[in-house]
Amino acid sequence: MSETNTTPDAVIDLACELIRRPSTTPDDAGCQPLIGERLQKAGFVIENHRFSEVDNLLAVHGSGSPSLVFVGHTDVVPAGDANQWRHPPFAAVSEGDRLYGRGAADMKGSVAAMVVALEEFVSQHPDHPGTVALMLTSDEEGEAIHGIRQLMPAIANRHHFDYALVGEPSSHQRLGDTVRIGRRGSLHVQATVLGKQGHVAYPELADNPIFSAARFITGLANTQWDQGNADFPPTSFQIANITAGTGAANVIPGQLHFQGNFRFSPESTPESLQARFEAIARETGTHIETRWQLSGEPFYASDRRWREIVRDVIQAKTGQKPVMNTAGGTSDGRFLAPHGTQVVELGPVNATIHQVNEWVSQKDLRLLKSLYAAIMEAVLRSGA
Ligand SMILES: [Zn+2]
Repeated sequence: MSETNTTPDAVIDLACELIRRPSTTPDDAGCQPLIGERLQKAGFVIENHRFSEVDNLLAVHGSGSPSLVFVGHTDVVPAGDANQWRHPPFAAVSEGDRLYGRGAADMKGSVAAMVVALEEFVSQHPDHPGTVALMLTSDEEGEAIHGIRQLMPAIANRHHFDYALVGEPSSHQRLGDTVRIGRRGSLHVQATVLGKQGHVAYPELADNPIFSAARFITGLANTQWDQGNADFPPTSFQIANITAGTGAANVIPGQLHFQGNFRFSPESTPESLQARFEAIARETGTHIETRWQLSGEPFYASDRRWREIVRDVIQAKTGQKPVMNTAGGTSDGRFLAPHGTQVVELGPVNATIHQVNEWVSQKDLRLLKSLYAAIMEAVLRSGA
C-alpha cells in the first residue's frame, strides 16, 4: 500500500546517499531536497526555509498534540586532507560493519534513521493522533546563526513541538549508553582589577592589583555557587587567562586582567552569579571593572514521562539502562528549549566524530532507527 522504502537496508542506503553529497557547512549539497521529496511522497507537508547561505527544512505530518520533532543537520565539518583517509571521505565505503565517511556518525547516519523511521511510522499509522515532524539545517557545525536559531522564531507562531529528539552522537561506547537531557548554562566574564602603578621600591605610593586579585581569586575559588540538583552538577567557575605586568622588573602594574567562565546549573541565574562575584570583590577590597557575556541559558527536559519513555525504549531494545546527563558541548537543542519543547539527544557512538576516518556501525544505525520508531510509537500512543 505504501511506496516507502522498507527494504532491510533502507537506513544504510539513505545514509550512503547522504554521505556522497559533500555538504560541508553551510552547503546542503542536495541532501534536504532528497529527504524532502521522499517525505512529501510519504504524505508530509514540506517547508523549505533558506536564510543567507543556509538551507533549513521542516517536514510535518498530522496536527496538534502530542507533537514530536526529530532534529538534525545535513552539514558536515571539513574532511581535511582526503589522502589521510582510509577511504575517500565522501565515498561511503563499507568495511564489515563499518560505514566510513565524513558525517557517517555526525550525523547523516542518524538523519537517515529518522527519515526511514518517519516514513515507516506514517505508512503504518496514516491517521495517527498528534504530529510527527523532522527539522533539518545545513548550519549546525558552523556559525549556527541561520540554522535552527533563525528557523524556530520563523515558525513558532504556526508550529509548537512538545518533544524534540536531537540525533547528535550522544553515545560513548555502545549505542544508547548515554542520553543527553539538557545542558548547563555558560556565562563569560572579563574582569579588570584596578590598582595604581608605581615603583617597586616605593610601594606606599602604589596599589598592587596582583595582591588584591590574589585575595579576590582565592575568594572566588573557595565559593560554592550552588549544590546543583538531581540533573545538574554544581555550578563551576574557572579562570582561563590572567595577565598583569609591564614587562619591567621594577614596576608595580596598574591593572590585572582575567577571563573567567561559569558553567551553571538552573539553581543559579546569570544575575545571581554576577551579584555574588561582585560581592566577593567588595568583601576582599578589590576594585574591579567587568564585562559579562551570556552565551547560553541552561535547559533540561523536566518532563519525567518523556524521559521515562526514552529510557524504557532503550532498555527494552538494548538491554541496558542509559546514563541520562547534561554533560557535553552545545547542540541545536538550545534553540528549541526556550519555546517550551522538551529536548533529549540520542544518537550514535561519538568516538570518531570530526576525525579522519569517521565511521559508524551499520548495525547501530538499524538499531537507532528502531529506537526512534519505538519512541515515536510510545509518545503518540500515550496521548498528550
Ligand atoms: Zn552534529
